[in-house]
Amino acid sequence: MADSTNRVALVTGGSRGIGRATVHALARDGFDVAFCYRSDDESARTLEKEAAESGVRVVGTRVDVADAQSVRDWITATEDEIGPVSAAVTAAGITRDNPLVLMEDAQWRQVIDTNLDGVYHVCRAVVFGMMKRRGGSIVNISSVAGVYGHGTQTNYSASKAGIIGFTRALAKETGRSGIRVNAVAPGFIETDMVAAMNDKARKEALKSIPLRRMGTADEVADLVAYLVSDRAAYITGAVLQIDGGITI
Ligand code: NAP
Repeated sequence: MADSTNRVALVTGGSRGIGRATVHALARDGFDVAFCYRSDDESARTLEKEAAESGVRVVGTRVDVADAQSVRDWITATEDEIGPVSAAVTAAGITRDNPLVLMEDAQWRQVIDTNLDGVYHVCRAVVFGMMKRRGGSIVNISSVAGVYGHGTQTNYSASKAGIIGFTRALAKETGRSGIRVNAVAPGFIETDMVAAMNDKARKEALKSIPLRRMGTADEVADLVAYLVSDRAAYITGAVLQIDGGITI
């Protein structure tokens, strides 16, 4: 059980992968959870039922995080119906890989709009309420690509590096209001996002990971749940890598 007094959490990109595992972890920790997703209604409805078995409210809403007004409306409705948000986890993210010489403007734009603007939209909408209540915790999902860069992913790496700068700046702005803002930077995690890798790329990736396996969404969610909880009360502005050692 998380030890915060007010327990409403937002999770973006909750229908699949790391976001989905985070919804489960926070529900288990006693949070009512409002999550959003872009299109997969079926996964969202199943998740609502499964996670609510922890005895909390779990509500999924179709919201495009790239759309500022939709995000504002979603968060206003959540706070009216469930209560003030005390934790926000921004996991919604996409890839549109291409070497820069072949990069299409739309591929660049979609990735920045979803991955970086999405984080801004959510944080912008929750942070004033958290300041007024003098408390809250935000965890933004970055990537090791945002720390070290990844070939064919200039768009994705830029968005994830942007999240790190954003997280540190917001941590400085809001620490005095009792708000903690951290980033998690995963390496290869077994989700739909990496399922598209071909066998050769997968073998190459595994060779470069000291632990010789990809991580699981649950392992990332456990770290997120820790950062959200009061057990991490003195951690803010941190970028925690969870990558099996790939960046050593
Ligand atoms: P995933 O399995 O592809 O799931 C992505 C989730 O984001 C889905 O729930 C999807 O909704 C949602 N989403 C995508 N675009 C959205 C939008 N515009 N508005 C709202 N929701 C949107 O991805 P994942 O692997 O769990 O990745 C989660 C986060 O971790 C991402 O930010 C990713 O960049 C980051 N990350 C992943 C890895 C990895 O190896 N998997 C490594 C480093 C960082 P729908 O189901 O409706 O499409």
